[in-house]
Amino acid sequence: MANQTLGLDDRLYHYLHSISLREPAVLTQLRRETAQHPMGRMQIAPEQGQFMALLIQLMGARRALEVGVFTGYSTLAVALALPPDGKIVACDVSEDYTAIARRYWRQAGVADQIDLRIAPALETLDRLLATGEAGTFDFAFIDADKSNYDGYYERALQLVRLGGLIAIDNVLWSGQVADPDVKDKRTHVIRALNQKLHRDPRITLSLVPIADGLTLALKREAG
Ligand code: CA
Repeated sequence: MANQTLGLDDRLYHYLHSISLREPAVLTQLRRETAQHPMGRMQIAPEQGQFMALLIQLMGARRALEVGVFTGYSTLAVALALPPDGKIVACDVSEDYTAIARRYWRQAGVADQIDLRIAPALETLDRLLATGEAGTFDFAFIDADKSNYDGYYERALQLVRLGGLIAIDNVLWSGQVADPDVKDKRTHVIRALNQKLHRDPRITLSLVPIADGLTLALKREAG
């Protein structure tokens, strides 16, 4: 997967960063530590974190959901954009990756705003639905195992309010979704979800070609 914006050459990408990135120091430190990690390419691009933070502010979001935390960069970017009473429910299966995340959340002073649930995310989302939290979230970010993307999307769509926003990461999948010679399972799942969203009447849709492709799906009345 790509962890810089696709389709820009290095010079233009560097320019974009040089004239627009306003990354807080704690996020820069976390990004640099994660870059040393064997799975470091799973981290979102900094311009994407900044874009999502802008969306949070634009919406006046107070309650966010994150599916797939890894080392916590996107969670932290969102948390820093929420108001002081804002909350994030963050789902991941890895104690190891999220130990790094927790360290930076504490350093940034937002640890109390993040409710980390270590469990398969489908179970956590089902539990939220079972405990009456449907329609209570303003924003959801889906960036986890691709095989369950459709299940995450369907649950997130129930958990966000009308007018709430779901952001789905890696929908351009380094360009592989458009290459007919690529036929693996994960690419197939992303293609299928992209096609489903294209005609889904429950959402207002925009696929933003930032980083590895970020679909924005705004929940609306069906019909
Ligand atoms: Ca991702």
